[in-house]
Amino acid sequence: MMDSEGQPAVDTTVPSPARIYDYALGGAQNFAVDRAVLDQITEIFPSTPQPARDNRDFLRRAVRFCGERGIGRFLDLGSGIPTVDNVHEVAQKRDPAARVVYVDNDPVAAAHAYRLLGGVHGATMLQQDMRDTEQILAQPEVRSLLDDQEPVAVLMVAMAHYLKDADDPIKILSAYREAMPPGSYLVFSHMTGDDFPEQLAQAVETFNADASDNDQMVLRSHAEQQELLEASGFALVDPGLTYPACWRPQTTLNVDHDPRNATFYAAVAHPRRH
Ligand code: SAM
Repeated sequence: MMDSEGQPAVDTTVPSPARIYDYALGGAQNFAVDRAVLDQITEIFPSTPQPARDNRDFLRRAVRFCGERGIGRFLDLGSGIPTVDNVHEVAQKRDPAARVVYVDNDPVAAAHAYRLLGGVHGATMLQQDMRDTEQILAQPEVRSLLDDQEPVAVLMVAMAHYLKDADDPIKILSAYREAMPPGSYLVFSHMTGDDFPEQLAQAVETFNADASDNDQMVLRSHAEQQELLEASGFALVDPGLTYPACWRPQTTLNVDHDPRNATFYAAVAHPRRH
């Protein structure tokens, strides 16, 4: 949605997942309403910045993993407000010709990406709802990633918990899977309450109380996330669905870094052939 000056409309009275996540990562693209929600959640769950940091570290490792396997095309769904080491920066470090299409429905994420990506070769932003799968897959920028059947990586990092059961997440993931050429990868992470059920239930209740209907968050267990991926036609690569910090770590974890505090699971998967 655009405002009267043709800029994306921003509601500064309702917290947004993109801006809350930006605050958790130490960014400056957030408002008092976003900081208030995260501060409340931090009181409930004091390790709160760790989920965002562990996820970003997982995202970087997974993008490098895909790049090392010859993937040079990335569709980043729920890409967030640009921060350090964005997907195109990580991918283009290895392959300067790598191409990325970012998709986010948040106007602040979109506005910053438009500004950051102006003049950047191979990287584009679409302000759209990733649940509109037909519309996303029909965009010329996305078609040009997919049309000549080169493998791609589709990223849904720290965003699938915004897909409510009523959105039919299996249908959404399956639609992307069907569009993925052979040899492609899905990079996935999703919030969970498995290890801290009471605190996480309270944190999500706090978040959902202020968030818009579109941005309500759903916790899913390890078994539910595994089932979502399998039922959508994905086969997990090693080590499967695990804590983000435990997905192919490149350094030994500090003894005081408890991977469970991420309150997320992460995975990389292949589309099964249909
Ligand atoms: N993927 C990034 C990362 O891992 O650093 C950002 C994650 S942030 C927690 C979740 C992002 O998903 C937010 O920017 C939010 O606006 C976006 N998002 C949530 N639901 C969405 C939807 N239906 N369509 C597009 N973007 C969505």
